[in-house]
Amino acid sequence: MSDTRRNDRWIDVFLLRMREPENASDKPYYTTGSIVTAAMLRVVVLGLGCIALAQVAEPTVVWWTAMLSIWGLGVYPAWLQYQTFHQKVQDLTVGTLCGACRHFNPTNQLCTILDVHVTNEEPPCEGEGWEPIEGS
Ligand code: SF4
Repeated sequence: MSDTRRNDRWIDVFLLRMREPENASDKPYYTTGSIVTAAMLRVVVLGLGCIALAQVAEPTVVWWTAMLSIWGLGVYPAWLQYQTFHQKVQDLTVGTLCGACRHFNPTNQLCTILDVHVTNEEPPCEGEGWEPIEGS
């Protein structure tokens, strides 16, 4: 991955964009880990901003600013993106051949025997490796 694309990726993660970019076709662009990382980065930046604000503002103003900004700009956008991610995993699990296969790991959208990400309705093994989930 080039430096420019790596930087773009960090900017995308930090901004918690709701839609994956066009080039995100071979593996999941947003994952639980990237969402949590983005939320933590945002909370750290907001916390530093609030510490700076505490040098010039009343404590009540600082507390309200911290609470509202950490919720509104840190946690809530991450929660929204997690909902989008979760819905996408649900769609893959319910509507695809991989979703009914014992080798599919929905946590990271991975086929565990091919070690490739499942990103659409086409199973990467073209159905040859499919095995039913035990107990179903
Ligand atoms: S073995 Fe085939 S059907 Fe099963 S998860 Fe992997 S790609 Fe999908």
